[in-house]
Amino acid sequence: MSRLMLGKTLERICKAVLLLCLVHFLIMMIFYLDVYTQRFDIFSRFNTRNYSKMHQYFNISKPNGTSLTFLVGEDHFVSSRKLENNLTVTKKPLPMCPDVPQGLVGRLLIEFNSLMTMEKVQRENPDVREGGKYKPSDCIAKQRVAIIIPFRHREHHLKFWLHYLHPILRRQKINYGIYIINQHGEGMFNRAKLLNIGYMEVLKDAEYDCFVFSDVDLIPMDDRNLYHCYDQPRHFAIAMDKFGFRITLKGMKVSRPDSKIGKYRMIKHERDKHNEPNPQRFTKIQNTKVTMKQDGINSLKYKLVNVAKYPMYTNITVDIGTPPPRPSRG
Ligand code: UDP
Ligand code: MN
Repeated sequence: MSRLMLGKTLERICKAVLLLCLVHFLIMMIFYLDVYTQRFDIFSRFNTRNYSKMHQYFNISKPNGTSLTFLVGEDHFVSSRKLENNLTVTKKPLPMCPDVPQGLVGRLLIEFNSLMTMEKVQRENPDVREGGKYKPSDCIAKQRVAIIIPFRHREHHLKFWLHYLHPILRRQKINYGIYIINQHGEGMFNRAKLLNIGYMEVLKDAEYDCFVFSDVDLIPMDDRNLYHCYDQPRHFAIAMDKFGFRITLKGMKVSRPDSKIGKYRMIKHERDKHNEPNPQRFTKIQNTKVTMKQDGINSLKYKLVNVAKYPMYTNITVDIGTPPPRPSRG
């Protein structure tokens, strides 16, 4: 009798073990299909709906030293951590931006007839950060570029410049900041001094390793004209060639874009007050070889009046102590 009881108990145990095996097998099958077909949505912690918004790389390293790289959504990586507690999950750094960015459009239509407002520029560029700063979100740019613009009373040009340049720079995957170097007062306008001041001042704001100097009324007509630094100083606006000689005296070569993509459109304007052509300009240029040693960054004197960060640019107003304007003849 007791032997019969023992036999029955053993049989029950065997059945239970078999059933357990079957259940285990079934669960394994469901997991298998879940991962490979991405169709099942049975276990919320293995929710595969997130596959549609997968966007980040994660590196999962196991204690034994091996590691797996996943392109997964947030929820999925959390569930992986729940599954095996001794897994460590770390974010993988972004890749470097390619030398030739994808998504450039080439030749651009530039016109200045429409009504332009700063609000419109702001609406068009929601991902530009305060002070006119931007960096690509999907890759790391190799350089940090400061774009420096000499400025006074040209608000109407600035709107167009920002309207065209922000989207171009974004497509070019540039990590950049826009700086307006605004000359205080009504003394003679000194573009070169403003550029030198700009170079000094932007470095107080952030660590830049590339400086692009641009006039506020010059818009590139092709987005393949990349706004970053090359091995040599680069003259971007080759169709507006004016100041290249300074640099050649220092024994550097000037690099230029292809003539097809180096074209610029300039906003037409009258000559500004207190920016009349300097009557000594030809003698000054002839003497550059001598004067450039003392004249420039080494001997820069100015007073910082104000720094203001606006949504689309940073404004740096400086008093450069220029003499009052020459009385106009006739
Ligand atoms: N500029 C300015 N206010 C002035 C004069 C010049 O902002 O009163 C700046 C502006 O960035 C301009 C650049 O200096 O694009 C060059 O001056 P301008 O446009 O008069 O030179 P040009 O048209 O002869 O190249
Ligand atoms: Mn101009």
